[in-house]
Amino acid sequence: MMIVMNVEATPAQVEAVVARIEGNGFKPIVLHGEERKVIAVVGNNPYQTREQYVFLPGVDRVMPISRPYKVASREFMPQNSVFPVDGLQIGGDQIIIMAGPCAVESRTQMLEIAQACKEAGAQVLRGGAYKPRTSPYTFQGLGEEGLEILAEARELTGLPVVTEVTSPDLVPLVVQYADILQIGARNMQNFALLNAAGQSMHPVLLKRGNSATIEELLMAAEYILSHGNRRVILCERGIRTFETSTRNTTDINAIPVLKAQTHLPVMLDPSHSTGRWEFVTPIARAGIAAGADGLIIEVHQNPEMALSDGAQSLKPERFAQLVRQVRAIARDVERC
Ligand code: PEP
Ligand code: MN
Repeated sequence: MMIVMNVEATPAQVEAVVARIEGNGFKPIVLHGEERKVIAVVGNNPYQTREQYVFLPGVDRVMPISRPYKVASREFMPQNSVFPVDGLQIGGDQIIIMAGPCAVESRTQMLEIAQACKEAGAQVLRGGAYKPRTSPYTFQGLGEEGLEILAEARELTGLPVVTEVTSPDLVPLVVQYADILQIGARNMQNFALLNAAGQSMHPVLLKRGNSATIEELLMAAEYILSHGNRRVILCERGIRTFETSTRNTTDINAIPVLKAQTHLPVMLDPSHSTGRWEFVTPIARAGIAAGADGLIIEVHQNPEMALSDGAQSLKPERFAQLVRQVRAIARDVERC
């Protein structure tokens, strides 16, 4: 349920509503809109206590939120969420391009590819230090050493860093290095991790699980949002279908569907959604044409030798071409 305050409601009136919500055992999440404040009341069945709020001073109206996700819904906030990350406006007019290797493999590899990604037009650097691999016998990432290398790459290029965090205990460490925490497809419903990322108040890139519905993705986002952390970016990265010619199937529909249902920024990862470098650029173009707010792309200087996801990694020259093409499409769809 949401409580819409009057345009003239005073801070004391908002506080009184918040106190009443808390007193009833629910959680208030205040949206400081330009015109008026809206308070989401979250918890089990808050609408049952509707009568307790309608007559409080400063309250304009009390409305149910029809979707199971509340703070994530467009009903709660009709306009797009736009938030700054290190000077970039995520969810704004500009398409945000994140790029880098699947994994941080070594200092030399990461610093070289970070520089190349920057020169090609990337605005955020990616690189996994903790890799959730399907097999325990493959490269698992450099851990904290990888985070230190990412910090150096950030220093060198001036670009913010997105990197994956795989367990709740690692959140306090990873937030010291990452500008954006990545929660991977395999952990989309790791609720302890979602709660820890929510409590960290750090921006989060939340990837869709490969067998998760759009509603489940939004419910996962709601876990993070329910802690008052509003900086959540959703990412479509392909889902499992009967098709075997690509690693996953890009659910291109998810982009406009998500944009209709939520105010959160929506990105596309065509590297994992296709699994093959030849298809990354065409699907990246499709994603931007479909309304994505950005892309996350795997780039490696020597994909044949990559320790993970080489088959889907672009070489820097090809990545530069992707950036040029995608920016042209962004202008066609009135973005930049
Ligand atoms: C990754 O970004 O390297 C990754 C592991 O992605 P996903 O969680 O989407 O599989
Ligand atoms: Mn990868």
